[in-house]
Amino acid sequence: MSLLVIGSVAFDAIETPFGSTGKIIGGAASYISLATSLLHNRVGLVAVVGEDFDFDFIQTLNNRHVDTQGLQVKEGQKSFFWHGKYHMDMNSRDTITTELNVLGDFDPIIPQDWKNPEYVLLGNLSPQVQLTTLERLETRPKLVVMDTMNFWMDIALDDLKKVIAKVDVLTINDEEARQLSGEYSLVKAARVIREMGPKYLIIKKGEHGALLFGEENQIFFCPALPLEEVFDPTGAGDTFAGGFVGYLASLGRTDFDAMKSAVVYGSAMASFCVEKFGTERVASLTMDELKERLALFEGMMKL
Ligand code: AMP
Repeated sequence: MSLLVIGSVAFDAIETPFGSTGKIIGGAASYISLATSLLHNRVGLVAVVGEDFDFDFIQTLNNRHVDTQGLQVKEGQKSFFWHGKYHMDMNSRDTITTELNVLGDFDPIIPQDWKNPEYVLLGNLSPQVQLTTLERLETRPKLVVMDTMNFWMDIALDDLKKVIAKVDVLTINDEEARQLSGEYSLVKAARVIREMGPKYLIIKKGEHGALLFGEENQIFFCPALPLEEVFDPTGAGDTFAGGFVGYLASLGRTDFDAMKSAVVYGSAMASFCVEKFGTERVASLTMDELKERLALFEGMMKL
């Protein structure tokens, strides 16, 4: 099953109560590609970077069999840059800087090999680019999953709603679900958002786990693994989404029961992401480590 990933590949600077980084590798599609490629071996990436990017990271993706034919490198331009600062509770953060740079006029060119993917993950990116990506596919994928953030709700809500209408699964955090729906109750928010188009909605609640909503009365909850230390939550949502879709693509299924397991896979992968700054921990994650953690989840969720 082929799995196409699109999203930002970027530089981040991160400040947490435990320390701060200089420019490090970040971007939604960086985390997603690392997560999906642990679970699935047919992953293609469509993204854009500037000539300042760290190309060792692209080699890391290639070593994990991520096909980067669709990665554009813009001569004389700078990569997307995001600077975020976490509050003491690590569940909320402020964006200090967003420099779109190459993302400002990104035209997503889909390589011919990737025009008929079975699974698509539209990672965090301008909704216009997410929409263009879908329009450029030759066949309707089996499953389209989309992730987004409040930044796009603030500046491009109309476009965002157009993409949301076309996807099967939307993943957002609780604050964003409330902003998008205008409802405080997450159950009401899920109803409003599902009426916008997606059959399934995943609401990520950080250290409080994730909720999966399906058709009427289909609700699944997966806790987050209680961790002694959360070092850096950046990319946890992307890693979650990557684990979720990577698992579904490896099974070749899209039904609610498979999605329940996929949410557990996503949560387990995200629990590693937060252990170190940036992409480092997801990049070094092994299948054995993941299996051990899945067993912890199973124990934690059993009555
Ligand atoms: P997450 O912590 O899962 O919400 O994702 C964090 C990643 O999203 C960071 O690595 C950023 O580079 C990336 N990011 C932040 N803002 C944007 C944006 N407006 N568009 C695309 N990617 C973004």
